[in-house]
Parts: sequence; C-alpha cells; structure tokens
Amino acid sequence: MRLSQLFTKSSKDISKDEVSKNAELLMKGGYIFKEMAGVYSYLPLGLRVLQKIVSIIREEMNAIGGQEIQMTTLQSKKLWESTGRWSDDVVDVWFKSALKNGSDLGLAFTHEEAITRIMTQHIHSHKDLPVYAYQFQTKFRNETRAKSGIMRCREFLMKDLYSFSKDKKSHDEFYEKIWAAYQRIFERVGLGEYTYVTFSSGGSFSKFSHEFQTICDAGEDTIYLDRRKKIAINKEVYNEEVLNSLGLKAEDLEELRGAEVGNIFSLGERFSSALKLHYSDENGESKAAFMGSYGIGPGRVMGVIVELFSDEAGIIWPESVAPFKVHLLCLSKEKSLIEKAENIYLELQNIGVEVLFDDRFDLNAGHRLRDSDLLGMPYRMILSDQSLKKGGIELTVRKNGKSEIISLKEVIERYLS
Ligand code: ATP
Ligand code: MG
Repeated sequence: MRLSQLFTKSSKDISKDEVSKNAELLMKGGYIFKEMAGVYSYLPLGLRVLQKIVSIIREEMNAIGGQEIQMTTLQSKKLWESTGRWSDDVVDVWFKSALKNGSDLGLAFTHEEAITRIMTQHIHSHKDLPVYAYQFQTKFRNETRAKSGIMRCREFLMKDLYSFSKDKKSHDEFYEKIWAAYQRIFERVGLGEYTYVTFSSGGSFSKFSHEFQTICDAGEDTIYLDRRKKIAINKEVYNEEVLNSLGLKAEDLEELRGAEVGNIFSLGERFSSALKLHYSDENGESKAAFMGSYGIGPGRVMGVIVELFSDEAGIIWPESVAPFKVHLLCLSKEKSLIEKAENIYLELQNIGVEVLFDDRFDLNAGHRLRDSDLLGMPYRMILSDQSLKKGGIELTVRKNGKSEIISLKEVIERYLS
C-alpha cells in the first residue's frame, strides 16, 4: 500500500478526554476513530491488525473442530426470559430496544441462549454430539467503565465458541484442547510470554473457570501469580482454601495487574436444561447436553499488544499482527532514487512481503520518520543518498532499534524470507 493513497493521516493531537495509552497511540496513527467513550471505529490500518488477530484465532478454532457461524445481534425477550437473563436486575449491561409494535428486543451481550436454541433443531441423538460452533460477532454491553481504550468497549468484536458434549467427561477432553488452542493463539499474537492461565470463579457447574490474563499495567484485574509454577488466581477467588486446593502458598505469589484477553467456562446443563436441548443417549434415555463457552476479544487483544509493545515514539507491532511487515521510505526527491524505491516496492510485493510505501515525497523527512515510528511496522527500510553511498538500504529492526546498511538481497535473506 502507498501512504499517498491511504486516506488516514496521523495526528499529533487527539481529544483530551482519551486517557488510555492504546487508544491514544492508535488514534494518533489513524488506526481507529473514537466515536464516543468506549466506541471506536477501525480504519484501514487498524482493521488489518484486527483481521490478522481474527485469522489466527480462526485457524486455531478450526484446528480443534470449530464450525464457524454468525448469529444475530437482535434478541427476543422471550428467549432470554426462559433462562432468567432478560431482567436488568440480573444482567446490568443490556442495551435494549423495541420493535414498532412495542415488543422488546435486546442487543446481544453474549450468545448462550441463541446458540442453544439453534442447537435444539440439530442435536437429537448422542450421534449428533459433540458440536463446537463459534463466531466473530459484535457484542453490545453497557459497561460502566470505559477508560481503557479498545480494551473495554461498549460495542466490540468477540470470538465466542460454544461446545455441546454428551457428558462431563467428553466436555473435559474438549476443555483441555481449547485451553491448548488458546495458549497457541496468545503465543502467535506475541503475548505468550506475558499471558497466564488464571483460576477464576466457576459458577454452579465447576469450581473454577479459567481466564487468560496478560500481565499489563493497564489491565483492570488483580491477579496473584506463582511465576515458578506458572499458575495464577484471580483476586475474586483468593482465599486460604483455594490456595490449598491448588497447592499454592501465599508467600510465593506476586500481586499483579492483568488484562483478561480470553476465558474458558464450563456451563454444564444451565442453558441446555432451561431451553430443553435434550438428546437421547446410547440407552435411549433423554439427557441435557453438557455445554461450555469460550471467549476472546480480538480488539482487547489488539489494545493489550499496543500497551505492551510501544515506546514514546509509537507502536512496535509483533510481526504476526503488524498491518505491514515493512515500512519503506525514500527520503530523496531524486528521480533515480525514487525509481529504485519503486522497484524495491514491487520486488517485495512479488515475493509476498506486505509493504507500506511512504511515497509522500512532498512531505519533509522528519515528519515521515516520525510517522514511521508512530505506525510501528516491524522493519523500516530507508533509501536515501547517504544509504546508497554506503552501498544499500538502511534497515532498522524496530523491536531492538538496531540499524544497519545492507543490500536488498541481504534484507530479504535475513529478515523477510
Ligand atoms: P471483563 O471481566 O473484563 O468484563 P468478561 O468476564 O465480561 O470480561 P466475557 O463475557 O467472558 O468477559 O467475554 C469474553 C472476552 O471478550 C473477554 O475475555 C475479553 O477478551 C473480551 N471482552 C469482554 N468485555 C469486553 C469489552 N467490554 N470490550 C472489549 N473486549 C471485551
Ligand atoms: Mg464484563
């Protein structure tokens, strides 16, 4: 992509009411636009990042047998009344609306009810189980706090997978699988080193649920981590009995701020009983399916990545989610050099490297270098009179700040292949 063609522009000043680092950097870089508190639009560069995160999650969900669907945002009152979750006293984040005839509607904040009802039409026998269905879909939540940029939104994308198994045993086997898939996802997006599985409150069907918490100052949760054992617990379940049951000692635990990037949850028969999702087992007996739900917020993941991988000058994207791998700049207005840069741009594209080419030759070099720092592609290639005199391209690896002048061939061999 050519920067001269990209409609977004970077800006030095953004609205004073933005207090989070992730949103500040993303807004300055033109990655996102703030519609209002907790509500952000994704612009071309931001959408590229979000889509890369989504692709990684999708690959891992497909690899464990997930089938992708897309459910509706509009939800009927009647459905949610049957599980006792329509009332605002029970669920305090509902956004609600109504049809012209007066009947109530809700904007989905999660989809257990919807998916369970769908499954009543498709699951009848033990032979129909297990089923793992997932979606990437917008959730609406009337969150009270919205001060964490794209980490906590009132409208946000969620990957939610729902599992339907015949019994707890087969549910537990899948639970282990998706646990491992989540670890691969957070590894692949660059958060592996900072993300821990945290024991959290479990509801009525299991003692614990599990959260994937990334250590991050901007996180809203408090967790206690045993670094050696790589086990953490959420503040809400911290007590003597839980510590004992997990073999943890208070003195080995560090209190840290965490951001919940994903969670996995056993639901048991809570929804399948209420909505009569019954199947007949091997002996012809009618049973309720055993369910689980598993969420990840791709936008929150993106926000956490920016919080962890940025400095005063801007963002430093991990390669796997960067909108482009290379930021190519030609700092000369000389025709022969511009031609060289154009050729490099084409050549890199031909070998499948994603390049953002700053061809805004009318802007001064300082401005363009600042933009490249702010936007944060993993590799920066500068073509200038000086670099050419020294025999090549100035390549900077953004994550360690190291620069060297090398030939295009070497750049490709060492970094881009
Ligand atoms: P939190 O405790 O942070 O509010 P939650 O327990 O409500 O999270 P879930 O309902 O399980 O979260 O949602 C699944 C995933 O969706 C979370 O792990 C998180 O990554 C993401 N998520 C939840 N709420 C938001 C939000 N308001 N904005 C962006 N992402 C969110
Ligand atoms: Mg919440």
